[in-house]
Amino acid sequence: MKTEADMFDYVIVGAGAAGCVLAHRLASEGQHSVCLLEAGPPDKSLVLQVPAGVYKASTSTKFAWQFKTEPSAGTAGRPIPMPQGRTLGGSTSINGMNYNRGCPADFDGWAQLGNRGWRYADVLPYFRRSERRIGTLDPVYRGTAGPLTITDTDWWHPVCDAFILGVRNLGLPLNADYNAASQLGVGYYQRYINKGWRISASRAFLRPVMGRKNLDIRTRAQATKLLLEHGRAIGVSYVAGPGEAAYSVLARREVILAAGAINTPKLMQISGIGPAALLKDRGIEVAHHLPGVGANLQDHYMIHLVQRVKGSETINGHGLALIREGTKWLLGRPNLLAISPSLVYAFASSRDLGSAPDIQLDLALGNYSSPGSGRLPVIKLGFYQLRPNSSGFVLARSADPFQAPAIQPNYLDDEADQRVAVTGIRTLRRMLNTSELQPYNDGEELPGPSATDDASCLAFAREAGLTAYHVSGTCRMGPSADPQTVVDDELRVHGLDGLRVVDASIMPFVPSANTSAAVFMIAEKAADMILGRQSLPAQELRKSEVKRPVALVGVELAE
Ligand SMILES: Cc1cc2nc3c(=O)[nH]c(=O)nc-3n(C[C@H](O)[C@H](O)[C@H](O)COP(=O)(O)OP(=O)(O)OC[C@H]3O[C@@H](n4cnc5c(N)ncnc54)[C@H](O)[C@@H]3O)c2cc1C
Repeated sequence: MKTEADMFDYVIVGAGAAGCVLAHRLASEGQHSVCLLEAGPPDKSLVLQVPAGVYKASTSTKFAWQFKTEPSAGTAGRPIPMPQGRTLGGSTSINGMNYNRGCPADFDGWAQLGNRGWRYADVLPYFRRSERRIGTLDPVYRGTAGPLTITDTDWWHPVCDAFILGVRNLGLPLNADYNAASQLGVGYYQRYINKGWRISASRAFLRPVMGRKNLDIRTRAQATKLLLEHGRAIGVSYVAGPGEAAYSVLARREVILAAGAINTPKLMQISGIGPAALLKDRGIEVAHHLPGVGANLQDHYMIHLVQRVKGSETINGHGLALIREGTKWLLGRPNLLAISPSLVYAFASSRDLGSAPDIQLDLALGNYSSPGSGRLPVIKLGFYQLRPNSSGFVLARSADPFQAPAIQPNYLDDEADQRVAVTGIRTLRRMLNTSELQPYNDGEELPGPSATDDASCLAFAREAGLTAYHVSGTCRMGPSADPQTVVDDELRVHGLDGLRVVDASIMPFVPSANTSAAVFMIAEKAADMILGRQSLPAQELRKSEVKRPVALVGVELAE
């Protein structure tokens, strides 16, 4: 087998949300050579570039790892499909494009676990540095000079408007910027879509540095083993695929793992870094006992209600009207091809709507998980518990890099999570039965009339829930005294030199949001640590100064 070794200052494994930010920041600095390894192919396909390709992209075997969770009692014995992006941009090339940071308590909570420099005041400047916000903005919270363009929707729909107004009249405030002072409220999502294009991490962060001589991007390069010498990571072996020639790249300074919350712990485990007894059981030679690798897997479990719609088309209702919408897309006019699948959000309390949010809602104008399943016009309203207690694990099944690991999130394992699932279903039903939505309401399709009491609602949640794709926490950040942690607060792997983890794996717990915004922030902050730069100054906030607009675009208000 042919072996070639190349030497770089930094080797980054994985060109996803975090890997692209790191490549951008480390290469732009100009002083260091950087090698970026990506297991998947380049992201040239239109399916990845045009927002409407989301369903094809996320079900593709070329551009996504088609993982499945292990069956569990919490999911009525079902395995659940768990795709992850496998191309430049990683999951941001196949995801739902909603931009959502989480709330201050998330990051203050990370810091309270002993992680210095991760309070909301510390991380806010990094959220701001990564973004170029177009639309409503308070500069205290939002950035305008970063690589990632965040826009408001330019496509509105009467059913969405009616839903928003109905929920507003139930008592949830309109909130024009849930990424500012407060999440609570309802409105249209912000998203990383601009002028009809998906703004993946690859487009935003990688393209601007692609031509740089100090950046070597290798696609179809799956890291199969970390090379360790005397307690230090010195490089990585990689191959294009099973049976292909193996190559290696060496790192003078650091190897940085950014392969995502499933593949990062798996790569560590098959390299002998992880829970020693479990690795031995799987025939893997132990290099460094670190029990937290692959533990603490968290995700958001998404439960969907489906309502039939009358008096208006939805996306299921008229197919995509491809030619008409394609023409609008080409002309740069608002169109159906350039929207995110979930158009409307709400952050609410599952008990009384208006107190501290414990659920996030997504309204989609159609049933994306089964397009073509009929031309019935429907809306789909999904929700997940923002801070679930249930957690699980990722564990390599063998030393074979091409074997998918066991993924067990243990959804709905915890009793409190079960209660939120039930109260959430009841609350969503209220939201779907407002007088404002009544003209479009043609009856509940799911869960349907049999789900009335708590037991039947919980049974529905177990039988029908899916992942919200927010896997995180499998290389948890925290002080080494806690055996479940894997990296310190500078994201260096406990007990090894020259190795960091920078991706969704390091989250001590999942933020109250979709996860990519927090991953961008983590990588922005990590880049400064890696380059030995001082952190951006913390931004201590006084009482909110956010200016609340009186109306949201697309929704006519009576006031
Ligand atoms: C279908 C879907 C919908 C989602 N919707 C949203 C949304 O609307 N909003 C939001 O904020 N978040 C969303 N997310 C979550 C968000 O995309 C992820 O949290 C984020 O991309 C994680 O970033 P990451 O860098 O940790 O991993 P990823 O972005 O997944 O990147 C990991 C990269 O590493 C590569 N890799 C893995 N193993 C290896 C290896 N051994 N060698 C080389 N390369 C490797 C992968 O191929 C991939 O390119 C969604 C995710 C999915 C899958």
